[in-house]
Amino acid sequence: MMNILVCVKQVPDTTEIKIDPVKHTLIREGVPSIVNPFDACALEMAVRLKEKEGGKVTVATMGPAQAKNALKECLSVGADQAFLVTDRAFGGSDTLATSYILSRAVKAIEAKTGETFDVIFCGKQAIDGDTAQVGPEMAEHMDLPHVTLATGLELEGRKMRVVRDTDEGHDIVEVELPALVTVTKTPFDPRYPSIKSKMAANRAVITEITNSDPDMVCDPECLGLHGSPTKVKKTFTPNQSKDGVIITGEAGADAAMKLAAMLNDAKII
Ligand SMILES: Cc1cc2nc3c(=O)[nH]c(=O)nc-3n(C[C@H](O)[C@H](O)[C@H](O)COP(=O)(O)OP(=O)(O)OC[C@H]3O[C@@H](n4cnc5c(N)ncnc54)[C@H](O)[C@@H]3O)c2cc1C
Repeated sequence: MMNILVCVKQVPDTTEIKIDPVKHTLIREGVPSIVNPFDACALEMAVRLKEKEGGKVTVATMGPAQAKNALKECLSVGADQAFLVTDRAFGGSDTLATSYILSRAVKAIEAKTGETFDVIFCGKQAIDGDTAQVGPEMAEHMDLPHVTLATGLELEGRKMRVVRDTDEGHDIVEVELPALVTVTKTPFDPRYPSIKSKMAANRAVITEITNSDPDMVCDPECLGLHGSPTKVKKTFTPNQSKDGVIITGEAGADAAMKLAAMLNDAKII
């Protein structure tokens, strides 16, 4: 029996991201949102592990009330219970503060359920913040071993063998449980919900965990903008200039020579 947690992030379903010029944070209101694609792969990996070994899959997200929709999506594709970690005090959190809050929320969920997690899955990275920091940072806060970029895994007793993506191919990394694993694009696709599972998910009760929750013991110095060492100097939408140069008509070697000359003229090489 495996007690599994998957941390999922609700992300904007668009590349047309708008940034608040004053607060330097993403404008999320009115923007269609989805479950972060790598988290959907992590959830599918978790549900397959549960189907093979038995147990339970819990999902958790830190975010505003609208993030409940992401949790309902997860409940419709195999998650058994869901927790929304939400509080104004968490607003403005950078990755260090986010990972700290999530690690405290894991302890709060374990206190509420009376069960500790055998494995925590995160996505390799979120497609909006894109830092890939939260997973490993959570492992550090909780003093857990972690393996990143998983594409598959096998379990043998309290040992997990993780297939880890590398530039050259893949590694097999063996880790003692409990552990944290971040998941990249898997060879299998996340499953689709059925009408029945979607309706059940819409009726499901999602437990909210706030900063005043007795099980949530946070150091106020580590929360929100105050607890975030990342100081955003400037945010701007880079202008996408289309004035590229296409070298046509020349044979390979000649084209390369021409490109080298152009780069040389531009003092790039
Ligand atoms: C100064 C500052 C202020 C910010 N203020 C805000 C703000 O007010 N609101 C806001 O939404 N963002 C804010 N951000 C962005 C926010 O810090 C990051 O988006 C967040 O920390 C996650 O980092 P990331 O997107 O790079 O995730 P990654 O590190 O790339 O995510 C890796 C994995 O961690 C897990 N994960 C990440 N975030 C969450 C989450 N929230 N819940 C559950 N699992 C998660 C997922 O499994 C994900 O795949 C702010 C950033 C800075 C620097």
